[in-house]
Amino acid sequence: MATHGQLPGIAWPPVPTGADATALALAWQLEQSQWWPAARLAAGQRRQLAALVRHAAASTAFYRARLAGVATDRPDGVADDAWARVPITTRDELIAAGDDLLSRAYPAAHGQAHEVTTSRTTGAPVRLRATDLMAAWWRALTLRDHAWHRRDLDAHLAAIRHVAAGAAPPDGLRARGWGPATAAIAPDAPMSLLSITATIDEQVDWLVRTDPTYLLIYPTALDAVVHALAARGARLPALRQVRTISEALTPATRAACAALLGVPVVDTYSAQEVGYVALQCPDHAHYHVAAERLRVEILDDDGRPCPPGATGRVVVTDLHNLATPVIRYDLGDLATVGPPCPCGRGLPVLTRIVGRRRGLLRYPDGRAAWPVFTVACRQAARYRELQLVQDDVDRLRLRVVADPPLTAADHGALTAALHRALGHPFAVTIEAVPTLGRGPAGKLEEFVSHVAPR
Ligand SMILES: [Zn+2]
Repeated sequence: MATHGQLPGIAWPPVPTGADATALALAWQLEQSQWWPAARLAAGQRRQLAALVRHAAASTAFYRARLAGVATDRPDGVADDAWARVPITTRDELIAAGDDLLSRAYPAAHGQAHEVTTSRTTGAPVRLRATDLMAAWWRALTLRDHAWHRRDLDAHLAAIRHVAAGAAPPDGLRARGWGPATAAIAPDAPMSLLSITATIDEQVDWLVRTDPTYLLIYPTALDAVVHALAARGARLPALRQVRTISEALTPATRAACAALLGVPVVDTYSAQEVGYVALQCPDHAHYHVAAERLRVEILDDDGRPCPPGATGRVVVTDLHNLATPVIRYDLGDLATVGPPCPCGRGLPVLTRIVGRRRGLLRYPDGRAAWPVFTVACRQAARYRELQLVQDDVDRLRLRVVADPPLTAADHGALTAALHRALGHPFAVTIEAVPTLGRGPAGKLEEFVSHVAPR
């Protein structure tokens, strides 16, 4: 698969070739399959799982034993009860497996395999290989997201995100085309890019000058930018929609964006190991699983599927990566299952992506809870960004970026707000820092725990 291609001698409409044509062919199929009933989507998955299991058992050392006994010769694919007995793979197991994960023989027609190193903010990286087919799927699902949210592909997109080099403040970078997904069909769309390492003030200055139609940004940065814009009384008159990626979006940030900027937020849930996991429904603030691409299971502590309304571990199977099979992999996130969507799409619904499992707050009495504190802190004091760190079971550290610096009264108000929001009188230390370090992919964790689960 070549990455880009156009039929020569044709100016309009363009006739994409190579990987661009593959992505558009997949996108056309996604337009149809989104309306399939859930049972038809699940039946397609079972057939593809049979092909995946045969391949992984035959060509990887890691999965040979794990997949032994999974029958793949039934005409309707892998049975659900057989699938439920396949062991779940944790992140640590994936890291420990190393080269045993890699397939010794994947189809050459899937294209070249590229190394993907995931970069969660803590712990060792996971190393995988992804083929050109994975890139085509990424593009197709990006096109689904554009279609669902009715984006004008010729409009001006501004992105504030991690970039390997360049795009530094104050000016960032100007380019033509939003990226590979739309390169074949809207190659000239204006695109502006700023590195997430810019301060919030620099981001706001840049946004006011850029005045984009769409903004792509991380949720924690969005929250700070929205409040900073409002504090200045500045507006972004051309802005129609904000798109968030990479971190968990909170309802508070979604609401702040609607109230202060007057535009909706469209969120996506993805993971570097597998790409898009779920995209926001065009009609609702919840998510539809990309069921044509991944089997996503939300499982309780006993490994049983969660019913609607329940929250469980997100366990994914990549249906198509034959270079590094990823089978029943626990992403380390939690999500809440939703009932079927009134929009009519048969794709499974997640109502909330809760975030990392390791990000739970531990109480001295052994309880653990997903800490909700950002709104309480915002009301208690003025600052740019903050991060809560749990160093011990009874000690918290609040790292705060603030200009002007926080006063003693602010410290007292923040401590009281944390005690109220978290329901426990933790010892709180407040640390003024010039900047919050982000992980290699630009992720900022609002809450970091150094306490081991019991
Ligand atoms: Zn829907």
